[in-house]
Amino acid sequence: MSKRILVMFPNREYKESLLHEIMLKSGTIFNTINTEVTPTHTKIMGEIKGDEEKAGEFMRILKRRGGIVRELDVMMKFDQAKCVSCGMCVSLCPTKAILYNKDFSVKFDFNECILCMRCVENCPVNAVSYLGD
Ligand code: SF4
Ligand code: SF4
Repeated sequence: MSKRILVMFPNREYKESLLHEIMLKSGTIFNTINTEVTPTHTKIMGEIKGDEEKAGEFMRILKRRGGIVRELDVMMKFDQAKCVSCGMCVSLCPTKAILYNKDFSVKFDFNECILCMRCVENCPVNAVSYLGD
């Protein structure tokens, strides 16, 4: 099982060894996909590999150590009722997060998402939303 998350630390709380330490404590593997450092915060997107219980423990320890944690499948919302199946998002998505169903409706797997925002910015009917950090 894998779960994509976004975690944000105030820079004063974050050091590079922290994620390794939490991986060891929780028995998970965390693959970093993207890191963004601002003058005040470090924002890391990555994927937790491990069962539900261990992934939960990984996120609990992150929070105890000062991280703000968001699960990507909660941050992104797809409104099937608005979608007109134009396929724009499927052609723009750089990962396999958006696929066609057999009937050419689309489905999202936000555990493959890297938050590039192309689907959000280009959907002609605003069927995809980003719910914020
Ligand atoms: S935000 Fe980017 S990666 Fe995520 S589903 Fe949309 S197009 Fe794909
Ligand atoms: S771009 Fe919008 S309307 Fe078009 S398939 Fe994707 S979600 Fe549906």
